[in-house]
Amino acid sequence: MAVDRSTIWPYRGGEPGEFYYQRYAHPTGVEAERALGELDGGHALLFPSGAGATTALALAFLSPGDTIALAEGAYFGTGVTFSQLERWGLRHVEFDQTGPAPDDVQLVWLEAPSNPFLTMPDLEAAVAHPAPVVVDSTAATPIHLRPLELGADFVLHSATKYLAGHDDALLGVVVCKRAEDADRLREFRTRSGIVAAPDPCYLLLRGLKTLDVRVRRQTESAAELARRLDQHPKVQNVRYAGIGGLMSFDVADAASARAVETSLRLITNATSLGGVDSVLEARARWEADRVPPGLLRLSVGLEPVEELWTDLAQALESA
Ligand code: PLP
Repeated sequence: MAVDRSTIWPYRGGEPGEFYYQRYAHPTGVEAERALGELDGGHALLFPSGAGATTALALAFLSPGDTIALAEGAYFGTGVTFSQLERWGLRHVEFDQTGPAPDDVQLVWLEAPSNPFLTMPDLEAAVAHPAPVVVDSTAATPIHLRPLELGADFVLHSATKYLAGHDDALLGVVVCKRAEDADRLREFRTRSGIVAAPDPCYLLLRGLKTLDVRVRRQTESAAELARRLDQHPKVQNVRYAGIGGLMSFDVADAASARAVETSLRLITNATSLGGVDSVLEARARWEADRVPPGLLRLSVGLEPVEELWTDLAQALESA
């Protein structure tokens, strides 16, 4: 489909049609939401970033005094976003998502697998909790996990990552199990103006055409690299959930991590994950002492796995 950048569409016979003003809905977004809803088996709503989706979900469904149980070791930015909302009376506590969430919380927030610790949530325990359950499934993607089928109420993705897949579109998505939740969130989105623009939605639609082949290839390569890294003398600890292209591993210290980062020739030393190009970075620069100083996060792209291994092995020599 061609991207339609219109912000207005003419009324017909004096009546607004399906599209009338872009903040409510636009054709490219609706088409992308249809595809995303099918992938996760629910009602999808797009936002201008994963963080925007997180903010909208929290503000649309929670009230001052409510507490979110957030998976410990999940994307550090999610906790930072919730801290921003503390001034409006929203609290969050961290818990080990491999077990049950604490009592007396109004939302359970899981991450599958967590970034950058790569733990998988105990979804069965989570859905037994009376509070609604959100699964940030950015790193798993719907190719490997469909949390709504397992009882979750919402799935969230930073669509910036695997779904769009080419490091050129910033987007987030919430997929709701129930139509009434989607209606409430859509109304909040329209009124708050946290709306995704047509151009990134177009890039997302294009990216989705290759999601399955990309993620399967990235998973295959990641599994092989994790196996080899695990046997490398300079590598202390490999974390890989067995699905997807994301992993992390530790070298001795911050200086070794920096040496690996600056010795790479093929893999890009950059942040983010989920793109067709492999990227690696030491997470301590962002997360400080929340992660070991030598923790390197690797997002495996589509390059030939032997070329990726050659690059990693030569970079590790300097560690
Ligand atoms: N959730 C996860 C697991 C992430 O890794 C990220 C970003 O790194 C986000 C959410 C936030 O997404 P965005 O950067 O699109 O705002």
